[in-house]
Amino acid sequence: MSHFFLYIFYKIFYITRNFLFHFSKAHDIMMINCILLFSQWEEISGLDENYTPIRTYQVCQVMEPNQNNWLRTNWIEKGDAQRIFVELKFTLRDCNSLPGVVGSCKETFNLYYQETDVEVGRNIRESQYVKIDTIAADESFTQGDLGERKMKLNTEVRIIGPLSRRGFYLAFQDVGACIALVSVKVYYKKCWSIIENLATFPDTVTGSEFSSLVEVEGTCVNDAEEEADNSPKMHCSAEGEWLVPIGKCICKAGFHQKGDACEPCGRGFYKSSSQDLQCSRCPAHSYNDREGSWRCDCEDGYYRALSDPPSVACTRPPSAPQNLLYNINHTTVSLEWTPPADTGGRNDVMYRIICRRCTWEPEECFPCGSNVGYLPQQSGLTDTYVTITDLLAHANYTFEVEAVNGVSDLSRTQRLFAAVSIATSQAAPSQVSEVIKERVQQHSIQLSWQEPEQPNGVITEYEIKYYEKDQKNRIYSTVKSKSTSATVNNLKPSTAYIFQIRAFTAAGYGTFGPRVEVTTKEESTGSGEQIISFCSLCRHCGYSKADQEGDEELYFQFKFPGTKTYIDPETYEDPNRAVHQFAKELDASCIKIERVIGAGEFGEVCSGRLKLPGKRDVSVAIKTLKVGYTEKQRRDFLCEASIMGQFDHPNVVHLEGVVTRGKPVMIVIEYMENGSLDAFLRKHDGQFTVIQLVGMLRGIAAGMRYLSDMGYVHRDLAARNILVNSNLVCKVSDFGLSRVIDDDPEAVYTTTGGKIPVRWTAMEAIQYRKFTSASDVWSYGILMWEVMSYGERPYWDMSNQDVIKAIEEGYRLPAPMDCPPGLHQLMLDCWQKDRADRPKFDQIVGILDKMIRNPNTLKTPMGTCTRPISPLLDQNTPDFNSFRLVSEWLEAIKMERYVDSFTAAGYSSLESVARMTIEDVMSLGISLVGHQKKIMSSIQTMRAQMLHLHGTGVQV
Ligand code: AMP
Repeated sequence: MSHFFLYIFYKIFYITRNFLFHFSKAHDIMMINCILLFSQWEEISGLDENYTPIRTYQVCQVMEPNQNNWLRTNWIEKGDAQRIFVELKFTLRDCNSLPGVVGSCKETFNLYYQETDVEVGRNIRESQYVKIDTIAADESFTQGDLGERKMKLNTEVRIIGPLSRRGFYLAFQDVGACIALVSVKVYYKKCWSIIENLATFPDTVTGSEFSSLVEVEGTCVNDAEEEADNSPKMHCSAEGEWLVPIGKCICKAGFHQKGDACEPCGRGFYKSSSQDLQCSRCPAHSYNDREGSWRCDCEDGYYRALSDPPSVACTRPPSAPQNLLYNINHTTVSLEWTPPADTGGRNDVMYRIICRRCTWEPEECFPCGSNVGYLPQQSGLTDTYVTITDLLAHANYTFEVEAVNGVSDLSRTQRLFAAVSIATSQAAPSQVSEVIKERVQQHSIQLSWQEPEQPNGVITEYEIKYYEKDQKNRIYSTVKSKSTSATVNNLKPSTAYIFQIRAFTAAGYGTFGPRVEVTTKEESTGSGEQIISFCSLCRHCGYSKADQEGDEELYFQFKFPGTKTYIDPETYEDPNRAVHQFAKELDASCIKIERVIGAGEFGEVCSGRLKLPGKRDVSVAIKTLKVGYTEKQRRDFLCEASIMGQFDHPNVVHLEGVVTRGKPVMIVIEYMENGSLDAFLRKHDGQFTVIQLVGMLRGIAAGMRYLSDMGYVHRDLAARNILVNSNLVCKVSDFGLSRVIDDDPEAVYTTTGGKIPVRWTAMEAIQYRKFTSASDVWSYGILMWEVMSYGERPYWDMSNQDVIKAIEEGYRLPAPMDCPPGLHQLMLDCWQKDRADRPKFDQIVGILDKMIRNPNTLKTPMGTCTRPISPLLDQNTPDFNSFRLVSEWLEAIKMERYVDSFTAAGYSSLESVARMTIEDVMSLGISLVGHQKKIMSSIQTMRAQMLHLHGTGVQV
């Protein structure tokens, strides 16, 4: 509280040092505004108790009745004040102490005021004054008996207001008292400027009423802000006191409170929010080098996630997951790992899986796409395991497991992950879903369907399950079909049947497709089943018109329903016609050549894309005819297309079309990502299961069955002429007439004329050019041997002449290492001297299917494969008697690189080598499976030779 003095004056008796400054001012005023007209008030100078001169106003007309003496102040400007305090200090004589004044003597005086906006003259009428109060003395004084004066100073305070004009006058009316007015203090009260809760409140004048509180809004000090929904307020009371503080200001982010001010946080400190009280030291891996920071910056390589508060340490991406393990079950892969060694300082580490499918050769990887399933999910994994489903069978995959945390996406450093490459094994085929009712009769229903979208191998059979829809116990029957159609007989008329179909491959049955309901026809009184028209039969029989323009030839073949017959393009007079009969002419603008992948006899073989209008673009191989070709070369080149264009089978390379009306002339074939089978097997030596190898062989046999059914004889069936796609599906390729074989580097001239790939060719074909499907079966047997030995050269280094001789004398290739005996037996069957004794391709497919269905028949413990030891063997293998040194033998089998290993391990004689087991060979550090096999195979022969020639028993 404070008093704001408007006017003060003092009587001699009462001065305090505090008021000295005001004294002269008060005095001046009193001089000017002396007294009203006829007034008896006197200005009297005197000394106070300290002998300091002072002036008082006195009146003492107690003897005279009817006194009316006025004393008035000068005009007092009130300023902001509304409520004015007037403090009077005075002395008053006790009437009793004055002898002879009875009746007229008073002991009070009156206090008045008058409000005006400006100063007015001296003559003011009494009626214009408003009476404030009659002032009586609490203490009056008397003249002592001894004549000394006993002073009693009275102090009275009166309040005026509310005032509304600019100023006012005070007036004192004496009506017959003996008064000395010592001082008049006029003041109002205000609340002084203050800082409270970091808010400044200005000087505030109190309200007009005694009870009023003036509400004042505070202003935040520098670098402070109002607390949300809590702005600072205070109340100035009538007594000039600040009351009831409400709300507050707080220091802004980057500043903290010191006394009544906000100061910036120092370097290395921060304050992220105004709500925080103190500045804090920068958290780990962060810094700042300026004052007043609300946050600290992360050190290089460290980050703060968007959701990270400034108070947490800066962190970094985690290191790679550890100990990645996998487990494959057909086309499902489970991955398991342990958390990264370094979590980057965070506890929100999660994992994501990146799946890529890779082609075998060249190894190119592509994202797996949305067909692959992840359990529980692909990213955001909190557990350290995942199961990946719906992978393609026979495919190569790379899985990367990346540990990520909240700052991984902010980091531009290299991704860290654990990776595995996995080759899936075979999966069952997907569902057969598109079923069409071909023909519905009273007792039979013919259905056809599409091959499942993902056959995951070669479909060998379909199973059709059916039952009467309304039958309660749902006893069902099954029918099997090798093609994509079947007729179900012996049905009841007018009966609804439910059909479901599933496909079978080497991997087993797929799941049944959706239920298809078909109702047989009503029993008619007529002649029963319809007669199938000749035409509808023809749809399956496959007839071909040799000449499109309709010359003479019309071929009808009724071999098997569903099989067409191959037409030799040579039967066409105009080979161009043959091409256009069987191959689609493509617009060169639809073909995009991308790169060269091989060299053919007639020109380069390229890979590229084919985009036909309204169709998806597909990868293709493009065989080109080199420039400057002769007409004969052009004919021979296109001949392959004329042949290939007649075939339509999943195991025969598919012709997309030809470009003959532009240059270069091109043959466009489906793209087989893994190239030729022989090179592919050599590259992946030992990497497939027996089932996978048999699956490949089964596909090739199915393709050959189709070709032989069409009456086409291949003549050059060998692993080098089989192409492999990215799903490991093998397809027969390299079609041509005999002269195309000229292209085969394996083909050599024989005494019978023409070039023949001797090692793959049946005896009768070599001897008198008898090429038939049975001679293709012989070649197939050799191809089986190539497959089971991962691309080993048949008859190794033997010369063609020696091969012919050995075969004629009854020698046959032994079983490759780890080859199931049943498979070798099948090879031997294919190499029967009498071609009539060889199995047909249809039988081969059946035998392989059986093996696939009963994998136990394919089990062979390592190294237990039986090898028939033919006496003829000796003539065709190195003569071990001609070697004296182990190094000579190794040189002969082109394994000289291991000479030192053999020497170091103490194998100094061929006899000691002949006793070696596969484990011994491996213990020499020979890790390549192909080399192990080659060495073991030679050791076995060596052992047999020793036994045969010397009768020496070699104990192994
Ligand atoms: P060719 O003239 O048929 O012997 O082909 C020569 C080489 O080109 C073959 O050995 C294969 O490596 C490659 N090639 C041929 N056709 C294709 C194809 N359809 N897909 C991929 N590569 C092929």
